[in-house]
Amino acid sequence: MHLSLYRRFRPDSFEKMVRQEHIVRILKNQIEGNAIGHAYLFTGPRGTGKTTIARIFARAVNCEHPKDGSPCGQCPTCRALQEGSLDISEIDAASNNGVAEMRDLREKVQYPPVTGKYKVYIIDEVHMLTDAAFNALLKTLEEPPAHAIFILATTEPQKIPATILSRCMRLDFKLIPEEDLEKHLKSILDEIGKPYEEEAVAAIARAGAGSDRDMLSIAEACIVYADTLTYDAVCAVLGAADFHETAKLVSAMLTFDLETAIGCVERILSEGKSVGVLMKDILQLLSRITVAKTCNNAEKLLSLPKELYAEIKSIADRADGRAVLRATEILIKTESELRYVSSPRISLETAILRAAHPESDADSEALIVRINHLEEELKKGVTAASAAPMSEVRHAETPPAGEPPEDDFSFPEEEPIFEEAYFSDEPAPRSRKKAEAPAPQPAFQPAPPAAEVQQGEMSAEVAFGKFMRTLRKTPKSGVLFTMCSDLLATYEGETLVLTTESDTIFTALRRDDHRKAMEEIFSGMGVTAFEVRKKGAKPAMKSAIEELKNNFGDYPIEFK
Ligand SMILES: [Zn+2]
Repeated sequence: MHLSLYRRFRPDSFEKMVRQEHIVRILKNQIEGNAIGHAYLFTGPRGTGKTTIARIFARAVNCEHPKDGSPCGQCPTCRALQEGSLDISEIDAASNNGVAEMRDLREKVQYPPVTGKYKVYIIDEVHMLTDAAFNALLKTLEEPPAHAIFILATTEPQKIPATILSRCMRLDFKLIPEEDLEKHLKSILDEIGKPYEEEAVAAIARAGAGSDRDMLSIAEACIVYADTLTYDAVCAVLGAADFHETAKLVSAMLTFDLETAIGCVERILSEGKSVGVLMKDILQLLSRITVAKTCNNAEKLLSLPKELYAEIKSIADRADGRAVLRATEILIKTESELRYVSSPRISLETAILRAAHPESDADSEALIVRINHLEEELKKGVTAASAAPMSEVRHAETPPAGEPPEDDFSFPEEEPIFEEAYFSDEPAPRSRKKAEAPAPQPAFQPAPPAAEVQQGEMSAEVAFGKFMRTLRKTPKSGVLFTMCSDLLATYEGETLVLTTESDTIFTALRRDDHRKAMEEIFSGMGVTAFEVRKKGAKPAMKSAIEELKNNFGDYPIEFK
């Protein structure tokens, strides 16, 4: 009979558990001190050992001579329990969520155990019980017979009624660190005599994302691939596109191409990868890029398949070292906060936004990254025409005929803007061609006093707040939400003007799909005219030099 790796190597004693030592210690102490509780709640992510520990505990409390808290495996009770016994019942609440099962349990629990001292009920996925079933269970928990132990296991403790929680001893299982997963997988591979590449094991452990069960089922799929467990086989199973897509994301982030970076995030997450795993992948790639950038023997140190190393090396060569460091710092900070935020995806996107977008930060590290980037652009001889367009686009207008496809962000119908506009704090004027358009541009008329316009209306701040709340609830709007968080809202006449300091966000918000999504929400709110505007003027060549001068006038930089 074929047994899955997970079942075949399921620990049968506390000593064999992968981590969760904080829980093992408590349970062992209770067994040795004969201070066993009647109800436990095991909570934590899937595949971290909740049911496994519950089973070991159920046998340990019944064992006649427990060894260091673990079941001895030798005594008659241990043997009887190994065969399967009425004394240990596992109930899967996901498939038995009815009140009938809980009433049945309530009745049967009254009968004394057959072989050992205790009857143990393990109720898995307990959060799936219906309210009526919880009530029935509660009655049992309120007056448990002396021989009964309940272990409730769940990934979602917040769904358990407080009345149940208050009667349980709660033990929180933790995600298993990658190095422990690696160690566990290696010990299994050694035991079954399967040769492996280090990198393959590392990749599988990473893909397990803290879950032993997930890791072993991935390993299982990879093992049958070839005689030796190779990194290539793992890539083939996990999808090799994986690495390349992450590499594309990181490369875009490091070269400040926000649009591509966020697009990659969208694609990767839509393929089912979790935010946490993507975050880990990005961080690992960043650390490899750092090695490739700084170490002479990087190829040997990283010991990656040739083509992967080549890809990493080429990103490293193109990226600014400080930008790599800064991105790493931002992402590490975000990763540590990830488990406490309600929307990890928005946190990830904001982190990428910041990393890909040093303009949004005023700290000196960001300024240096920005300077390097600007110098790089200057070297390339970027012209004003190819840089981010200067003039605003009125989102309420119908797009002009012959508008380029939505992925093309250049607006050829607009001419380059000239210097006089560059150094003004005022919004940049439209290009001459636009200015000749028949419709007057209210943005450039003197704004009427605010009170006059806003009488009986929402203030800009309130309107924008309402917009953001609606946007947050809109499905698949994470990217847009992140970008809009940066906007400053004011009224000019009846037009709600949204200002950004970022070229990237300004350009991205002009995109058809983003514009339509915003339009829809605004018109639902009764806001008929809005406009996204770039703050001040910031063309490439001239302002780049200006900016360098402004920010680093005291530094010995030669401006050419
Ligand atoms: Zn025993």
